[in-house]
Amino acid sequence: MKFSKSQKLYELGLVNLVGAVNSPVRAFASVGGNPLFIKKAKGSKIIDVDGNKYVDLVLSYGPMVLGHRHKKVQKAIHKALKNGYSFGASTENEIILAKIVCDAFSGMDKVRFVNSGTEAVLSGIRLARAFTGKDKIIKFSGCYHGHQDALLVAAGSGLATLSLPGSLGVPEGAVKNTLISEYNNLESVKKHFEKHDDIAGVIIEPICGNMGVAIPQNNFLIELKDFLESKGALLIADEVMTGFRSKFGGAQELLGVTADITCLGKVIGGGFPVGAYGARNEIMEKVAPLGGMYQAGTLSGNPIAMAGGISTLTELKRQNPYKKFEEIGAILEVILSETAKKYQVELVVNRFGSMMNPFFTKSQVTNFKEAQTSDTKKFAVFFWEMIKNGVFLPPSQFEAWFLSSAISEKDMKIFANAADKALLAVSQMEN
Ligand SMILES: *Cc1c(COP(=O)(O)O)cnc(C)c1O
Repeated sequence: MKFSKSQKLYELGLVNLVGAVNSPVRAFASVGGNPLFIKKAKGSKIIDVDGNKYVDLVLSYGPMVLGHRHKKVQKAIHKALKNGYSFGASTENEIILAKIVCDAFSGMDKVRFVNSGTEAVLSGIRLARAFTGKDKIIKFSGCYHGHQDALLVAAGSGLATLSLPGSLGVPEGAVKNTLISEYNNLESVKKHFEKHDDIAGVIIEPICGNMGVAIPQNNFLIELKDFLESKGALLIADEVMTGFRSKFGGAQELLGVTADITCLGKVIGGGFPVGAYGARNEIMEKVAPLGGMYQAGTLSGNPIAMAGGISTLTELKRQNPYKKFEEIGAILEVILSETAKKYQVELVVNRFGSMMNPFFTKSQVTNFKEAQTSDTKKFAVFFWEMIKNGVFLPPSQFEAWFLSSAISEKDMKIFANAADKALLAVSQMEN
């Protein structure tokens, strides 16, 4: 497998782009080598500029749930393009997408569209503060909620890969109202409430994907919601990754919890920049123009992005691939576990529906501290062998892999073969 054209573009990219990437998670900092440049993608496959073809388990970090360039989505986009790209005024499609989203989430009467997950969350946090009149927010270490100042502490994802505790350029004042708790540890939440009486709410990835996959244990989420209700604080579900992926109604539907505020992104745009935040009427009525919380966007509700979202969600609902995701996910999980056993590699596989990833550790992984016991050197060797054998993965131990509904039996064979080679290579590493 050759990467010479990617290499050349990488060197060119370094001149006017930062590290030749527009998001640090795309850099290959923790796996070595240089990032691949992509030419195109179709269905379950992605093709780089050297013509190498991979089964894509990155899927743009989640959005491409139907696989790439689904016919119906492409048709909807082409149709929308003919009418214009942006108007700075309302269109019917915004109402249609809003209804699809509100119907899917029981806690959402109204929704506001924005342009990214980051925007959705920063607006959701502002809304929690506006509604409660309180300032403090609790987040869990290892959960990532986009790159807004206030939540860029103990934030998993790219920060974990780059081993950064937080970010330069975030003033102390911006995080003084952010409290950190441990995922799956209700006591660590209660502790903050004993000390502070100005907590607006708790933000959580109901199924965490940004320390790698971590799953709420027992009734963690339900108990958390009950506790918050008793304190008059809000539960803010960051379903940017899990919304329409865990289930059409997101992780909340599966886990039997209704959040006060829900943040969405990724899948709802089907590959176009769409984010959203929503809640019951009483809360959303705080948002301008109905209420005093200001939040705006020149391109929000963009007609092309709305067409991408509507067509993706409509097709997703028709396909209802969640049972298929569960079955295929379970098979890939078994392949990884069995192959690891065969080569005596210590490996823990976490999976929730179509989100999964292996950790190179023997510890269970239910929080960030446990995730960090993983051997990232082993992951790097594993990663490159998977690439060389035709499977495109996120270049980090601490990112979730995703399935699309376009994945085929043949793709799974490619995966099994690659996993065998990759875990053999890991087993042959010198300690
Ligand atoms: C990706 C992600 C975000 C940020 O979304 P962007 O569109 O990258 O700004 C926020 N929260 C979670 C849980 C995410 O996975």
